[in-house]
Amino acid sequence: MGPPGAGKGTQAKALAKRLGLAHISTGDILRQNVAGDTELGRQAKDFMNKGLLVPDELVTRMVAGRIDEPDTKNGFILDGYPRNIAQAEALDAIFKQKGINIDYVINLDTSEAVIIQRLSGRLACEGCNANYHIKNMPPKKDMLCDNCGSQLYQRIDDREETIKKRLDVYRKESALLIQHYREKNKLQQVSADEEAGTVLNKIIDLVK
Ligand code: AMP
Repeated sequence: MGPPGAGKGTQAKALAKRLGLAHISTGDILRQNVAGDTELGRQAKDFMNKGLLVPDELVTRMVAGRIDEPDTKNGFILDGYPRNIAQAEALDAIFKQKGINIDYVINLDTSEAVIIQRLSGRLACEGCNANYHIKNMPPKKDMLCDNCGSQLYQRIDDREETIKKRLDVYRKESALLIQHYREKNKLQQVSADEEAGTVLNKIIDLVK
């Protein structure tokens, strides 16, 4: 967990690769649906472009389906879900039914100045969803992905007015999850202002 720009996607992708786990990013799955103009994508698009949360039922159904795919059998990392208390409760119910336990909830604790700096320079790959940053993590070739060679783009919701809205939604809804998981003794705090490699090493030490 963490505010927009905390590095959830970057860290979850790297950690999943390192530990051989499936990576489930609700934001990535939703963006793929928008790009593919699916029914789910059409329902989600306006919420996403405005920086609002997509309705809980849609996202929860999507996550429940994704968890059932075979690549999750050795474990998986959820990135960007749950985003509010209702989703956390829905997830508890899904996990209870499937006999799955949450090992850790990692919260990436990030200062506001770092969030703005990261989001305003962020680039995403339209092919494989890899993340880059104009200054902090530039691609080797201008605007092309190092992994798959596809074009990089700036997310519509990374524009300044939408960033403000997303931070607002985070403070009002998602930040409440910190206390929720603290009470369940699942919460691990990692300060995430440093560069990505340093933060990843802290997470790996914790998971060890
Ligand atoms: P992210 O890639 O995690 O920053 O998510 C981008 C956008 O996708 C969010 O601003 C929401 O509009 C939507 N989204 C992603 N995850 C969720 C979720 N768990 N619940 C509702 N909306 C979500």
